[in-house]
Amino acid sequence: MTRTARSSGTAVRTGRPGLRGSDVPLVEAYDLAVLDLDGVVYVGPDAVPGAAQALARARTVGMGVAFVTNNASRPPQTVVDHLLRLGVEAQPADVVTSAQVAARLLAARLPAGSAVLVVGGEGLRLALTEEGLAPVGSMEDGPVAVVQGFGPDVGWRLLAEGARAVRSGLPWVATNLDLTVPTAHGPAPGNGALVAAVATAAGRGPDEVAGKPAPGSFLEAARRHGSRRPLVVGDRLDTDLEGAVNASMDGLVVLTGVSTATDLMTCGPEVRPTYVGRDLGALHEPVPPATVEEVAGTTTAVCRAARVRVEPSGIVVAATGDDAVDLLRAGCAAAWTWAAGEVDAVGTHDGAQDRGGSLPGVAGVVAALHGLEPDAPWAR
Ligand SMILES: [Mg+2]
Repeated sequence: MTRTARSSGTAVRTGRPGLRGSDVPLVEAYDLAVLDLDGVVYVGPDAVPGAAQALARARTVGMGVAFVTNNASRPPQTVVDHLLRLGVEAQPADVVTSAQVAARLLAARLPAGSAVLVVGGEGLRLALTEEGLAPVGSMEDGPVAVVQGFGPDVGWRLLAEGARAVRSGLPWVATNLDLTVPTAHGPAPGNGALVAAVATAAGRGPDEVAGKPAPGSFLEAARRHGSRRPLVVGDRLDTDLEGAVNASMDGLVVLTGVSTATDLMTCGPEVRPTYVGRDLGALHEPVPPATVEEVAGTTTAVCRAARVRVEPSGIVVAATGDDAVDLLRAGCAAAWTWAAGEVDAVGTHDGAQDRGGSLPGVAGVVAALHGLEPDAPWAR
């Protein structure tokens, strides 16, 4: 459904895929930042530059801060210790892990004290204990359910025990399905890969997944803080931003982690952010919108001085402006409009839904981004 509003000779279509703006800094528009960790607050062991300062400042103006992680192996206190070393103030209650969400799911369904087979590590065992369940490591202990989460010491014997339990028909909850975990030497098998190993042997997949992109951890963070207007902040589209969509929360993607300009422009509606920001400093600034306008018969996405035309054959940079993030915002609005097939009024696009993956012109926008900011790792 497209509506058209006209003012001073320019028609601005609303209801199109675009990016919202905020007239006030996001710290004033939202009462809680629900933050992913790796790629947002830190990268591996090191802090993202400026992250600690941005979060401290957010707290001073009254925005709550919560951290949500899919990593089930580290208990909240371990995450807090890491954050404190980086200069980020945090308490265990500020940290929501996928292990905690999995334990809550099980505790809601099982009698108190039920034995649960843990295919995972210490963080998962601790989370079960805190929910009044009894973590066990063998079928001989009579488990009534299985929970699986990442733990660096999970080995073949435990995976085999998990497969045996799952094949016997016990309910099976996975903390998350991330296929890899980052290490200093590159990606290593993550919980999703180990869940796949069990599923292959057992002939079926998990009954439920607790962590991102399921909404549970975001909802838990909002619940703990009594938040009425939470903002999810993350770097990964398929976990953080898809999770925001699933939790019906607004989402800010930051460019300090894994997502690239190409990822953003070619992503589907189910993972699109509400806002794009360079880093956590974006919390403290108003955000310019990226709007799609009809100018002299041409569909153009505009973010401040940046303009990207939407043509039947793809998207084309009309004006780079002087801010690479603005150009990326305009590029997203243009690409999403093209992918939604909204240029058929002015051209021959067939209206096929979500053709973003093969979207022509994205490389041209990326080249222009690289020209504005040659050293930006995300400008690719
Ligand atoms: Mg991340």
